[in-house]
Amino acid sequence: MKIARFSTDGDPRFGIVDDDEIVVLRGDPMFSGFDTTEERIPLADVKLLAPVIPRSKVVAVGRNYREHAAELGNEAPSEPLLFLKPNTSVIGPGDTIVRPSQSSRVDFEGELAIVIGSIAKNVSEADAASVVFGYTVANDVTARDLQQKDGQWARAKGFDTFCPLGPVIETEFEVASQAIETRVNGEVRQSGRLDEMVHSVASVIAYASAVFTLLPGDVILTGTPAGVGPIVAGDTVEVTVEGIGTLSNPVR
Ligand code: MG
Repeated sequence: MKIARFSTDGDPRFGIVDDDEIVVLRGDPMFSGFDTTEERIPLADVKLLAPVIPRSKVVAVGRNYREHAAELGNEAPSEPLLFLKPNTSVIGPGDTIVRPSQSSRVDFEGELAIVIGSIAKNVSEADAASVVFGYTVANDVTARDLQQKDGQWARAKGFDTFCPLGPVIETEFEVASQAIETRVNGEVRQSGRLDEMVHSVASVIAYASAVFTLLPGDVILTGTPAGVGPIVAGDTVEVTVEGIGTLSNPVR
């Protein structure tokens, strides 16, 4: 099922995407199940929002595709390289990525995002799938100059608007060799496959949950393929993960 979080002028609501309509749910399906109402709304009549606002954190994995690590002069690390993005960096589909005045080089990074569905601590790789609510698409927007200047990544990865998520959460997605592609103004800039990850989704969940308690609604970004590059005002950046959908955001 494709789960959308949306608004029609009022408070955010949740629904199941059924072709070009949304079947409205009674509450947040992560906490109150998939209890549907009678109401159906055309997709064209809603504003899609970030499908989840991470409860406590966005955990992200750096350099998890070998060719991407190499393009920035790094080796893929033998263990997942974790960092955090604040939940205030999250925006939804169609929302604007704002390049901050402190940076003169802001890059896109198209990524698969894991949405955690239950409290998770010290989860084994074998049990990792049981704590996943579903998957969505992310853009790990990065101030590349500040990443190099600061030596750690809190600022470079943490600006407001630097974590677009969406358009929906696919609850039946199983990670295999699906395509992941990023386009800027329609031109393909990143083209990879999810099975090129150095550290698998299951191993990343196990590794991260040995550090942090993961809460329902937390999100894990799984790293970006090769081809990262800058975005400037007026650009539109789109990230597509086959089987989930396309996340599109304008830039200013
Ligand atoms: Mg990244």
